Amino acid sequence: MSSLQGEIERCGERIFALIDQHPDSIFSKAGYYQRMMNWSMRDEHFKVQMFRFVDVLASLRRSGDIVRHLREYFADMRDGFAPMMKVGLRAAGIAPSVTSFVLRRNVSGMARQFIAGRNPDDVMKTLRKRRSQNIGFTVDLLGEAVVSEPEADEYAARCLELLEGLAEQTRGWTDPLGAASDLFPVVNLSVKISALYSQMNPADPADAIAHLAPKLRPILRRARELGAFVNFDLESYAHKNTTLELFKTLFREKEFIDWPHAGIVIQAYLRDAEHDLCELINWARDRGMRFTVRLVKGAYWDYEKIQARQNGWVCPVFLQKPESDVNFETLSRILLENESIVTSAFGSHNVRSIAYAQAYAEQLGIDRSRFEFQLLYGMAGSIKLALVEMGYRVREYCPVGELLPGMSYLVRRLLENTSNEGFLKAKFSDNVSAAQLLRDPRSLIGGMRSVSSVESSPSLAAYSRNGASLETPPGDTYENAPLVNFVHRSNQEQMRTALREMRGRLGQKYPLVIDGQKIWTGSLINSINPSLPKQIVGSVTEAGIPEAEAAIKAARNAFDHWCRASVEHRAELLERVAGIMDRRRFELSALEVFEVGKSWAEADGDIREAIDFLLFYAQQMRLRGLPRLTQHVPGEESYQHYWPRGIALVIAPWNFPMAILTGMVSAALVTGNTVIMKPAEQSAVCGAMLMEMFEEAGVPAGVLNFLPGKGRVIGAHLVDHKDVDMIAFTGSREVGLRIWESAGKTRRGQRELKRVVCEMGGKNAVIIDSDADLDEAIVDSIYSAFGYQGQKCSALSRLIVLDENYDRVMKRLVEAAASLRVGNPEEPGITVGPVIDETAYRRMQETIEAGKAEATLAFQGKDLPPEGYFIPPTIFTDVKPEMRLSCEEIFGPILSVIRVRDLDEAIRVANDTDYALTGGFFSRSPANIERVKAELVAGNVYINRSCTGAVVGRHPFGGFKMSGGGTKAGGADYLLQFMIPRIVTENIMRHGFAPDTTPEFRAPFRWPPP
Ligand SMILES: Cc1cc2nc3c(=O)[nH]c(=O)nc-3n(C[C@H](O)[C@H](O)[C@H](O)COP(=O)(O)OP(=O)(O)OC[C@H]3O[C@@H](n4cnc5c(N)ncnc54)[C@H](O)[C@@H]3O)c2cc1C
Repeated sequence: MSSLQGEIERCGERIFALIDQHPDSIFSKAGYYQRMMNWSMRDEHFKVQMFRFVDVLASLRRSGDIVRHLREYFADMRDGFAPMMKVGLRAAGIAPSVTSFVLRRNVSGMARQFIAGRNPDDVMKTLRKRRSQNIGFTVDLLGEAVVSEPEADEYAARCLELLEGLAEQTRGWTDPLGAASDLFPVVNLSVKISALYSQMNPADPADAIAHLAPKLRPILRRARELGAFVNFDLESYAHKNTTLELFKTLFREKEFIDWPHAGIVIQAYLRDAEHDLCELINWARDRGMRFTVRLVKGAYWDYEKIQARQNGWVCPVFLQKPESDVNFETLSRILLENESIVTSAFGSHNVRSIAYAQAYAEQLGIDRSRFEFQLLYGMAGSIKLALVEMGYRVREYCPVGELLPGMSYLVRRLLENTSNEGFLKAKFSDNVSAAQLLRDPRSLIGGMRSVSSVESSPSLAAYSRNGASLETPPGDTYENAPLVNFVHRSNQEQMRTALREMRGRLGQKYPLVIDGQKIWTGSLINSINPSLPKQIVGSVTEAGIPEAEAAIKAARNAFDHWCRASVEHRAELLERVAGIMDRRRFELSALEVFEVGKSWAEADGDIREAIDFLLFYAQQMRLRGLPRLTQHVPGEESYQHYWPRGIALVIAPWNFPMAILTGMVSAALVTGNTVIMKPAEQSAVCGAMLMEMFEEAGVPAGVLNFLPGKGRVIGAHLVDHKDVDMIAFTGSREVGLRIWESAGKTRRGQRELKRVVCEMGGKNAVIIDSDADLDEAIVDSIYSAFGYQGQKCSALSRLIVLDENYDRVMKRLVEAAASLRVGNPEEPGITVGPVIDETAYRRMQETIEAGKAEATLAFQGKDLPPEGYFIPPTIFTDVKPEMRLSCEEIFGPILSVIRVRDLDEAIRVANDTDYALTGGFFSRSPANIERVKAELVAGNVYINRSCTGAVVGRHPFGGFKMSGGGTKAGGADYLLQFMIPRIVTENIMRHGFAPDTTPEFRAPFRWPPP
């Protein structure tokens, strides 16, 4: 055993011995809370329901509501809970007000276990008590989710007030250890940085710092005057780099450069924590002044894992608990070795982690007074007392605030305390032995996939094919392409470079491509930048009727060989295009910023979706590519397979200029059709880029023809053409219905019934229930309504709010809308850019004027850029279901709010529309959620999340009624519309003899054989 390990064990055993002298449960409080926790640890379902119930309880005001929720969450509890639950629920039925009173009291008691006080005065009782135990404090103001700038300003004001109060009330308090007291001011404030600015965008740290620094300076200045200490807490990974950068920026400023009482958190569960810590230490040496690091493992482990999984990112946190433990020790070592410039605060309840720091400090000869241990209020009381007794400096982290803003903090604590991987449960609940708890975590790490860097994106190869096979059900195995994570500086830089290079290339001209030939007609369509209408992004050649005819001829000729090409050959073409798109990803995103006014993240989302369509449809086609036996019957074999329809005309919109175009084109091609691709005029350069990529990937001449032009000229001509076999259209209701009708007419010489795949708009509604989590509902509704300027067919247009919640929702909604950043989306953190063109701009202005005559203009943004088609976020209230604002599709940043009495009325209003595309519901009532899932008339129903942002394969997308033909882009059935099913049956019995078995799949029917 190494001498260090021996020393760690000695320190750890001493702590355990002292803990035994102050016997304590896992939680410092017994009774109701302890029972709940014990049950939670025994039964995962109970735990989920319990934490969800706790989460909603604080927002319920009426006892009837509390009892209803209690029933909804716990009525189906089985096993050991049944008798207890039955009694509880019966009591709730007889005396709801008593039950709700008891429940509230118990849950408040539970919250108070972790929340040290409601306000600065309240918290003083706790702090005085701790002082008598020689335990210091850091105070944290609860309230992390701010949705608007007034809320952020209020948080800043409360921080200042708290500082003043603490300084006043602790006057005369002295350091418990005496030695090195200059490093550890008595008053210590922990600040949540994200609570100070509502528009923090990981892609734009400079903007965040520009807004955060002015809010923090008065707090830091006052702290310095009062002799206090300020710590920057770390939150989710999305904000980590900005918080570190902010810290370094502020404390290099002249005013603070010589101030030692600043600290920041490092989260050891992050793979890049060591790199960040070393950079910080170098920064500090350069600055020439001490600072403090609170080393923790990290509080958002589950969240980070889910985020990474959903977005296809390399997971920023370690996946094995011992890896976090080992990293904690590595970082402890670095901290202690740099004691000359950094003061260490070890934030852990894990005795092994604590003992490691003690042993290593001992080895380096660092005095106990020069570092400290920090532990959370309400947890591991006996460890705190043990450490004090051993002569260490101990500080308690004391959250202050009301129950409601404290809920997410409370739920994090409950999760931590019941985690199977956590130290506290192992020690205090499972009674794991001291020897086991003190083992070197290095010995516990299992073998696993190594990840080179958090910044690296998984290669596209990992996503193509996705392991799908003929035996695997379609869709089940598809893994989406990753989004670009703009948290990483390298990605921000690549995007900036791409924008710069694209700016230098604006104004290029692009030809038609017919039968593999580049064609110039002498007539050009200019595509302009909606943020700067004088800027021409590019010009595409305009096709007329002769070119349309030529394209049909080319497509017809090419069809003969393309329809015979193997599925594998066609699928590989799509995969090659996906590879090219991935290589040109930033360039294409930059083009979208210029051509259609998308923000960085929206543009990247569009490219990701395009890549997904290519890979998903390639996979789906492989699954459908072989003739499949319909039934096993002796003596006969009957195989179903598919033929392509013929020539597909693809007419795409500008709002998802790469994704929708790519989706329709790739579906048509992979199924064996030849294609005439007509992009929207406003996004024709994106179309030209897609053509370029297909050419580079080797699409044969005539198989894909690029034909930009005026819809009413070539669009109409092609739709009516006898030789066009199918039309895939996404766009407005007006044009869609015309196509639907026109394609229904059979023309002279026409051989096929035309198939129309038709996706149109929506008048999408989101309902906010009376118990909804408003932090979530407001942020997601704002994003759904105003993200990409409301120009998504899935965008929120009607927000339906229950009476009971109306005033609270409206206050926060309007303030949140007012806080949005409107501007040229070349800047990374812009949420609202320009609408697409002058026609849209004028239509929006008219809609707003007309809206003022029928409803109340509750909010309209100001401070628009002087140039460009900018329409500010606009909110109308007092909107009635029969008004134009409620009925007509708007396709812009205009939100109508409809107030309703109850959920019955809300559902009625939501469904009372010509459209059925997306719909949403925010609620924490399981019964109401079930009801809305069953009753909301929409093609895509979203619960407790934004109603935009469908992901290929995960959320097959499309509506019905006047929103479309009910087909689902990105779904398993989508390709079927591009094909004709065919059955080939053969009697395989000869003179009463037939083979025993018939294979499930057979080779494609081809003649002559390949
Ligand atoms: C005073 C104080 C202040 C804090 N401030 C912050 C802060 O600002 N920001 C912040 O994010 N956290 C903060 N934390 C940390 C957090 O709230 C948890 O308390 C802490 O992570 C628990 O670690 P532990 O060493 O006490 O317990 P342990 O039981 O040893 O470790 C539990 C931790 O291990 C990690 N973990 C769990 N499962 C896995 C797994 N499968 N793979 C890898 N890692 C895993 C998680 O981080 C989990 O919290 C703070 C903690 C304290 C004590």
